[in-house]
Amino acid sequence: MGQVVDYLRLSVTDRCNYRCVYCMPPEGVPFKSHEELLSYEDMVFFVRAAVQMGISKVRVTGGEPLVRRGLPDLIGMLHDMPQIHDVSLTTNGVLLPRFVRDLKQQGLDRVNISLDSLDSGRYRALTRGGSLEAALSGIEAALQFDLSPVKLNAVMMPELLAELPDFVSLTKDRPLHVRFIEWMPVGGCGPRSTSESLSKDQVMAALRELGADGSGPLEPVPSPGGWGPAHYFRFPGHQGTLGFIGSVSDHFCGECNRLRLTADGRLKNCLFSCDEIEVKSALQSRDEAAVLAAIEESLERKTFDRNMLPGHTARGMSQVGG
Ligand code: SAM
Ligand code: SF4
Repeated sequence: MGQVVDYLRLSVTDRCNYRCVYCMPPEGVPFKSHEELLSYEDMVFFVRAAVQMGISKVRVTGGEPLVRRGLPDLIGMLHDMPQIHDVSLTTNGVLLPRFVRDLKQQGLDRVNISLDSLDSGRYRALTRGGSLEAALSGIEAALQFDLSPVKLNAVMMPELLAELPDFVSLTKDRPLHVRFIEWMPVGGCGPRSTSESLSKDQVMAALRELGADGSGPLEPVPSPGGWGPAHYFRFPGHQGTLGFIGSVSDHFCGECNRLRLTADGRLKNCLFSCDEIEVKSALQSRDEAAVLAAIEESLERKTFDRNMLPGHTARGMSQVGG
């Protein structure tokens, strides 16, 4: 294993206030009981061990992390660790206005907010009931409290093409960084045929056409905030950028620097792998040697040959931590 693994995806819950069509089946997924989940203290114990193995950045995710009570306290505990240089959060944004002040005060560095559509009807359909207005308020809150760079995640589905001009406009006067993500087959979800999804090349071609129609040529730019799997572009004079994550068409496993801890205490070294190591009991008994051994084993077993066959992975994105 050559790649340095320094980035932890820490899932704090499998619960969510949405049921996005690309993430969950319509009936939702059975949630774990509170007793099955790690406590914040267990998670902090894990991160203290993980920093000894090279972890220096933590992204808090879920499910929807802001539905778990007391999340700002966890952010504060992570921020207080001198070896952790970057604490970020992935959220659907609807609860951000309520918690943003506390999150910032506790040391949250930046956020990624999911925003798959700028049309309120389509947004509601994609999230199965969500409010575009609430998500936009979350984005405003993130800008106001400088949780930057503020990145917006949009899973690419065919209807996106008609909305591209609106996404481009969003990046014009505000430092917002849209990341178009290919829809991945994870758990029971994923496109059933190529007509249900878009590739990054298709969206890129459509954006270049928009550029030819007047916005000017798309210029490649460095990733806002540093490392990441996305490749970014900007229309001339725009404050924000447009990025692409070819999670299906690109094979970036060789650059993968991530380790994942699920909310129920399982260590995963790849989103597309069924390989999990149970660390909950070692965390609850505060057995640091056992936790270190589990991390070492997980890193050794990181294989970089992902299996993306539909249905291969049992857990959906909300249950792993996207
Ligand atoms: N609830 C939060 C949110 O929606 O941002 C955090 C968890 S969610 C699982 C994290 C990210 O995974 C979101 O940006 C979402 O768009 C993405 N995601 C979920 N299912 C996906 C799939 N099947 N393919 C690609 N991205 C997916
Ligand atoms: Fe919830 Fe995020 Fe999955 Fe949507 S993508 S159902 S908001 S966990």
